[in-house]
Amino acid sequence: MRADFDMALRFFNTLSRSVQDFVPLDPGGKRVGMYCCGPTVYDFGHIGNFRTFVFADLVRRHLEFRGYQVTHVMNITDVEDKIIRRVRETGETLADYTGRYESAFLADCETLRLRAPHHRPRATDHIGPIIGLIRRLEANGFAYVVDGSVYFSIDRYRGAGRCYGQLLNLDLEQLRTGERVRNDEYAKEAVADFALWKARSPEDGDVFWPSPWGEGRPGWHIECSAMSMQLLGASFDLHLGGEDLVFPHHEDEIAQSEGAAPEGERRPFVKYWLHGAHLLVEGKKMSKSLGNFFTLRDLLERGFSGREIRYLLLSAHYRDSFNFTLDGLAGARTALGRIDECVARLRETAGNTSDEPATSLLDRFTEALDDDLNVSAAWGCVFDWVRDLNRRLDAGALSSAAAAAELAAWQRIDTVFDVANRSEAIAPPEILALVEERQAARKARDFPQADVLRKRLLDAGWLVEDTPKGPRVKRA
Ligand code: AMP
Ligand code: ZN
Repeated sequence: MRADFDMALRFFNTLSRSVQDFVPLDPGGKRVGMYCCGPTVYDFGHIGNFRTFVFADLVRRHLEFRGYQVTHVMNITDVEDKIIRRVRETGETLADYTGRYESAFLADCETLRLRAPHHRPRATDHIGPIIGLIRRLEANGFAYVVDGSVYFSIDRYRGAGRCYGQLLNLDLEQLRTGERVRNDEYAKEAVADFALWKARSPEDGDVFWPSPWGEGRPGWHIECSAMSMQLLGASFDLHLGGEDLVFPHHEDEIAQSEGAAPEGERRPFVKYWLHGAHLLVEGKKMSKSLGNFFTLRDLLERGFSGREIRYLLLSAHYRDSFNFTLDGLAGARTALGRIDECVARLRETAGNTSDEPATSLLDRFTEALDDDLNVSAAWGCVFDWVRDLNRRLDAGALSSAAAAAELAAWQRIDTVFDVANRSEAIAPPEILALVEERQAARKARDFPQADVLRKRLLDAGWLVEDTPKGPRVKRA
């Protein structure tokens, strides 16, 4: 890829409320740490949740496409109020209950072709580090204990000259009177304080762990601080989530993480905060009573594929609210059909030649995504390219080598978008070499050898078809 772009990769940073050049903390400029708040595994993921995870996948893939070495962490929230309620209702153990929805979530991620995070820490596997972090907050004077629960004191934090309200301008007075006081938190010093550790209550059943403050369980916010810092260090590059997490979840993460550092070692917890806008369905907030609540599985049952849903979720800019409709999904199918058809024609024309990627499409694509992930512009390039290629193919004006170069460019783009029809996937060079070997055997009328090679291809997952234009391979 050309490295001489005028403009750097840029993201909108919620912290600065502006689009900023992306410069990793790594002095070598190569390694990038990225944390995305993961699912609460109490039910099947809905299509809104997956909009956020597809957005995170796009960020990661584009960074990798640009040559960065990304460490991607996504937590699994497997202890939390809603989960505990369900465990009580079903009589299952916490691990059985959450294990089922965690597996379902991972299968859904595969359906949507999400690249697996390098680490998927579960909250319940990190109780030790969570307790350790709370102790550091206590030692720094920002935590207090009431009846076995531990709270974070925003007043003490601000009193020490720290800023609470970095991601959005908070009216703290408003916050105090505006926030609903929950029953189990009446003992807090101030309404805006939040629980770091929740003392065991009878409703918790078997869900509790020992701690210096007595039996109980961690609060939700602290788990993300503890696990992200354990895996990525006290200061890392990117933190992602849906816009609903800006406040209080991410603000609390900042306070906990920066508040735990020893005096004199304070650094910003995260350099770039990226938030995805919410998804609406048929113009409305998703709700079961409105009948517009879709899990991924609901959509698959309606006959849509993971790649169609992925394409639709990738078609809108992550900071724009997006209206998901079933008509939109039908449109995704048509759009993908146009790409599939063009790529199939390219493959036919390219035959088994392979080439360096054509640069014009790649350069425009890169420029578009570098601009805070401007997917509309990037898809615009792809569809202009399809139109132009179809014209040239119709006119018989595309050489095999040119077709191979365009195909290679598409293949590079698809490392980011990953929407290609996998049954029509482009074979890697070692497979193409076997196909050529088999073709040579056939020409030499060595049919037993040709059959051996066909079998080897099949074992590697590729099927050869002999067409009048020569052999074609596709996924078996
Ligand atoms: P949860 O499982 O509720 O903890 O949510 C997991 C992720 O999905 C979080 O990053 C949320 O911000 C995100 N999310 C929840 N609802 C929506 C929605 N309607 N649109 C986009 N993202 C959402
Ligand atoms: Zn989180």
